[in-house]
Amino acid sequence: METQRRVLVVEDERTIADAVAARLRAEGFTVEVAGDGPAAVEAARRTPPDAIVLDVMLPGFDGLEVCRRIQAERPVPILMLTARDDETDLLVGLAVGADDYMVKPFSMRELSARVHALLRRAAKADMSTTAKKPSAIKLGDLEINQAERRVTRAGVEAHLTPTEFDLLAHLAAHPRTVLPRERLLADVWGWADASGTRTVDSHIKGLRRKLGSDLIRTVHGVGYALEVER
Ligand code: CA
Repeated sequence: METQRRVLVVEDERTIADAVAARLRAEGFTVEVAGDGPAAVEAARRTPPDAIVLDVMLPGFDGLEVCRRIQAERPVPILMLTARDDETDLLVGLAVGADDYMVKPFSMRELSARVHALLRRAAKADMSTTAKKPSAIKLGDLEINQAERRVTRAGVEAHLTPTEFDLLAHLAAHPRTVLPRERLLADVWGWADASGTRTVDSHIKGLRRKLGSDLIRTVHGVGYALEVER
């Protein structure tokens, strides 16, 4: 029997918080709601959640700061709620450490699909760190250590978010092959529908910023390929 998983919902708009909490409770999650930044950090410290749904605009301090403080203590998958697409790009650029982003307004069906996908990926990442795996992929000057989840390029370590790491590892498993955005979305994020291809674009942007713009090639209208020397 699976133990009940805990989700912390951080949102100051009461109607949204209540709707999200009700939907997640109906799916069997234990849900706690926090209405501002300090309360969220305190709640996560008191009872560590398995996942967090986190609004960006909050009283006290904002979702970015909540994300930083919580992740600094213990890594936990975070789905961030943003007001606009360009806000998502901005946050990904800042590399705050969220694993997924969803732009308001969203359907409760989509929200629950994203939370389930986050938890599936977190479970998979847990297993991959405990299981024995080929520990390192070396492609040109890029080195990916799967066991330690560390990446270096030309000997310099890049600090990737868990999602950026998974995306890079996936691209690196198929070097010089164009992977469609829809396929990356399905394989890395675990989504069946293509509504979130912008999430892929945003994370690619983050990888380029941290590892160099020449590493990943865009094939317009199709997807991305990792370009490294043999
Ligand atoms: Ca808000």
